[in-house]
Amino acid sequence: MQPSKRLSQIPPYLFAELERKIADKKAAGIDVISLGIGDPDSPTPPNVVAAMQAAVEDPGTHQYPSNRGRDDFRNGVVDFYKRRFGVELDPASEVMPGIGAKETIFNLNLAFLDPGDVALASDPGYPVYTAGPILVGAEPVLMPLLPERDFTPDLSAIPADKLAKAKLMFINYPNNPTGAIVPDGFFEEVVEFAKANDILVVHDASYTETAYDGYRPPSFLETPGAKEVGIEVFSLSKGYNMTGWRAAAVVGNAEAIATYWRLKTNIDSGNFEAVQVAAIEALSVRTDASVASMNEIYARRRDLVCDALAEIGVDVKRPKATIYIWAPVPEGFDTAAAYCEHVLEESAVVISPGGAYGASGEGFFRISLTTPDERLAEAVERLRDTLAK
Ligand SMILES: *Cc1c(COP(=O)(O)O)cnc(C)c1O
Repeated sequence: MQPSKRLSQIPPYLFAELERKIADKKAAGIDVISLGIGDPDSPTPPNVVAAMQAAVEDPGTHQYPSNRGRDDFRNGVVDFYKRRFGVELDPASEVMPGIGAKETIFNLNLAFLDPGDVALASDPGYPVYTAGPILVGAEPVLMPLLPERDFTPDLSAIPADKLAKAKLMFINYPNNPTGAIVPDGFFEEVVEFAKANDILVVHDASYTETAYDGYRPPSFLETPGAKEVGIEVFSLSKGYNMTGWRAAAVVGNAEAIATYWRLKTNIDSGNFEAVQVAAIEALSVRTDASVASMNEIYARRRDLVCDALAEIGVDVKRPKATIYIWAPVPEGFDTAAAYCEHVLEESAVVISPGGAYGASGEGFFRISLTTPDERLAEAVERLRDTLAK
């Protein structure tokens, strides 16, 4: 049995490898602490769980959902976008549910790319920005995100021949893995660029609700003209501790949403309606306090990690958003992977090598803040010892 040529082109999913290494160590009786995966450790807020419980009791949620989503789901997203971002959306044409941002982003590749087409992908970036285009027979072209440009791509550096074939662009702020926030003017630049080059912008909004120090991340759709050229994939996973629920919304350009819907009717049968009901509750004001207290926890953990790294001479920027610390690999290691391997072997702490998120992530490592405080403190102690050696 042979996997498809397309599938064979994809390197093994980073976290699958990490999980195997962790399992091996654990089987050998070693106390491994993983700071590798970004998966909130706290439970989903209780009002959201209660809304789900009630919705599950209601036989009205038990049948096939519509791919377009429940009216109250689409209205709930509209209300949230208005309240949170000041963005007006038409519930009939500019909103749809997705079964998580991951599937939504993958499916957008299927909806918009043909073999020979190009998708412009942030590098380092969420792996689906590159695996998605490859799996549909198109070509991902990497846009390096480097510290000297505040982790925004240099749009003028995209090769003209690739740009001519580009139909999609994936961007993501606040950014995974770099923890960067969007600098003033960048979204405006993207809108101009997309208009000039006839590209559909896909903004991955997985971390807009996870921010610190009073920073409020914007929606891409706040940018004038954004709705003409783009859509936003809003995930409830990280901001509401709902990674297991598979809840997202895709919002923005009506034509793109209609195309996405047409594709989806051929692939899946929509989001369980009880999950949609729970998502409405999550996006309501009733969950704001839970989100704020989660963010206090992450800010405290961020400081714990950044202080410890600074103490041992790792020059790390304190992120204003996301659940990640993106730090330069200490001197003496050829690659980020070599350093992460060393840390795993010496201290049984799992951290992610930057190169796993794309070539431009080389030289960095990522620490996720989704580990309970005492375990994180223990991991930081171990890291300190390893680096001090
Ligand atoms: C976690 C993450 C996702 C996946 O979100 P789901 O809604 O759980 O599929 C997508 N994009 C980025 C940048 C992420 O970090």
